[in-house]
Amino acid sequence: MHLQFYGAAQTVTGSKHLVRIRDHSFLLDCGMFQGRMENIKEKNTTFPYEPKEVDYLLLSHAHIDHSGLIPYFVKRGFAGKIFATHATKDLVGILLVDSAKIQESDAEFMNKKLDRIGSTEPRIEPLYDTDDVDSALALFQGLAYGERHHIVDDVYVTFLDAGHILGSSLIVLEDEKEQKTLVFTGDLGRKGLPILKDPVQVDKADILITESTYGNRVHDTVENMEADVAKVVTEAVAAGGKVLIPAFSIGRTQEIIYLLHKLWNEGKIPAVPIFVDSPLSSNATEIFIRHPECYDKETFEAFLLQEKNPFHFSNITYIREVEDSIALNDRKEPCIIISSSGMCENGRVLHHLKKILPNHRNVVMTIGYMAEGTVGRRLIEGDKEVMIHGKMRQVQAKIMKMNSFSAHADKDELLAYAGSIHGLKQIFLVHGEAEQSKPLAEEMRKLPGSPTVTIAEPLMEVDV
Ligand SMILES: [Zn+2]
Repeated sequence: MHLQFYGAAQTVTGSKHLVRIRDHSFLLDCGMFQGRMENIKEKNTTFPYEPKEVDYLLLSHAHIDHSGLIPYFVKRGFAGKIFATHATKDLVGILLVDSAKIQESDAEFMNKKLDRIGSTEPRIEPLYDTDDVDSALALFQGLAYGERHHIVDDVYVTFLDAGHILGSSLIVLEDEKEQKTLVFTGDLGRKGLPILKDPVQVDKADILITESTYGNRVHDTVENMEADVAKVVTEAVAAGGKVLIPAFSIGRTQEIIYLLHKLWNEGKIPAVPIFVDSPLSSNATEIFIRHPECYDKETFEAFLLQEKNPFHFSNITYIREVEDSIALNDRKEPCIIISSSGMCENGRVLHHLKKILPNHRNVVMTIGYMAEGTVGRRLIEGDKEVMIHGKMRQVQAKIMKMNSFSAHADKDELLAYAGSIHGLKQIFLVHGEAEQSKPLAEEMRKLPGSPTVTIAEPLMEVDV
C-alpha cells in the first residue's frame, strides 16, 4: 500500500488521501478547501495526480470539506465509481447542488463588481455548475453500513457508522492479498450524541488514518448539552432578546432542532417561535426523515415508535423563501433563529448577524467548530467588532459558545478509539491544526504496541 496526502494535512478542510494498492488507486474523500486561506483557488484546482488516473473514490460523509470537490474532480476527468453509504449519497446530492449555486452566485456578484469598476481582471468562473453535479451523482453507488463490498482484485471496502452526521462512516479498506487493513476515520463522532448511533469500534487493523480536529481538547459531556441550551434560551427570552444559532445545514441543525423539540416536550424552554432559516436545512431535514436506519435507540423510541417526526412540532417553522427570511430579520419579538453557514462566512446567517449583534439583549449561541479566519471564530474569540458584508459591525450581543455540542471526538475519545484497535502499526493524523495534532501524536505514541505516529504533511507520500 502506498499513501499520498494532499488536503486536510495540518488543516481541517480539503480532505483528500490517495491510497494505491498495486495497480489500483482509491481516493478517500475529495473535499474542498474552505475559509480564507492563502492560494485557496490554486489549492482547489491543483491535484498532485491526474483525476482520470484515479480509479475509485470512497466518500466518508457528505460535509463539503470532504465531498465538495467531487464534481470538479469529475469535470477534470475522474470517471470511476464513487462509493458511500445510502444516506451520504442522498445528502451529498443536495449539498453539492447548493455548493454549485453558491459558487455561481458568488461569481456573478464579483463579476458584476469588476464590470462596474471597469476592471480588466479575469472574470471569476465557478469550479462547477449543477450539470457537473449531475454527472458526479451518476457515478455514486450506495452501500449499506457493514456490507463488505468487493471493489477490485483482492480489495474490499466496508463502511461502518462513524456517528458524526447522518450517513457518516469510517472506511475500512482491506487488501486480502497482502493481508493488510487500513482504517480511515473520516470525521469521528462521539458516543451519546442526539439522533445518531455511536461510532462503531474497529477491532483490528494495521494502519489508521485518523482525524485530529480536537486532538488537544476535552469536550464538555454530552449530558450537559440539554441543560446548557435550556438555560441560554430561557435567559435570553426573559431579557426580551432573540437567540441566533449559526449551524451547519446538515447534522448540527437537525441535532439542535431535535434537542429543542425534546426540551419543548419536557417544558424546559419557554414558548417562543423557532425558525429554521435555510432552504438547504429544510431539504436536509427531509433526508433525515428518509433514513431512520441511522437513528439511535433513544430517537427511535421517543419519536419514531410513536410515529412522531423528531424535526416537526407546533412552534417550529422552516423558511425557504428569501422574502420570509427578510421578514424574519425585522421581527422584534423574542424567537430562536437557526441559520447557516455554521462558521458565519456566508449565507443567510450574515443578514441575521447584522441585526442581532448590535443589541445587548440578543444571544448568538455557537454550537459548531469555527475554523481560523472565519467570522464565527472572531466572535467566539471575543472580538468587539466583526466585518460583515464589507462593513465593521459592533458586537453587543452575548456570544455563548457551547462546547458540549461537538460532533467530533475529543482527545480522550480519539485516543480510546485508536487504543482499542488491535495490531495497529502505523497511525497518520489528518484533519487537524498543528496545536491539536501535535499533542495528540505524542499521546498516541504511548498506545499499546507503540505504533508509529506521523502527522501528515501536504504532498507527503509513504509506503505502508
Ligand atoms: Zn464532517
